Amino acid sequence: MKKLKHYIQSFLFLELIKGMSVTLRYLFARKITVQYPDEKTPMSPRFRGLHAQRRYASGEERCIACKLCEAVCPALAITIDVVEREDGTRRTSRYDIDLFKCIYCGFCEEACPVDAIVETPIFEYHFEKRGENIMTKDKLLAVGDKYEAEIAACKTADAKYR
Ligand code: SF4
Ligand code: SF4
Repeated sequence: MKKLKHYIQSFLFLELIKGMSVTLRYLFARKITVQYPDEKTPMSPRFRGLHAQRRYASGEERCIACKLCEAVCPALAITIDVVEREDGTRRTSRYDIDLFKCIYCGFCEEACPVDAIVETPIFEYHFEKRGENIMTKDKLLAVGDKYEAEIAACKTADAKYR
């Protein structure tokens, strides 16, 4: 009986028709794929991407070398060295984030009392050489300088979201 059923199914191309019906259904269904990178999917306002260090409008770096971000980082990805300036204020002489260790939890951003370290919505970056995974202070400030307008807009949207 089982064999007969199999023969009938084969004779009537039932499996083929079933398969083609799936193809036909998806042919006219709403498309869920996009032509990346020309098209992009919507991004959550809470997405956490590449880090950046911000400056004030005067050009002064925001970071006051309090080391809260280093202390809170669960992945031990942040390394900070501190110097004291002549006016008694503290600044970092070294601020490294190892992006291979980072788990993009956002704790550093939340801990920072002066909004100096932030995670931007940038996700299109890559490394080609050994050591490029270390985001140095200069690299972080460069990202911050380049995207300050977007970062400031994200911060405003984030404040509204909360
Ligand atoms: S996002 Fe999280 S893991 Fe990455 S540097 Fe900040 S605190 Fe550390
Ligand atoms: S980035 Fe923020 S939390 Fe980290 S050392 Fe600088 S001021 Fe402190």
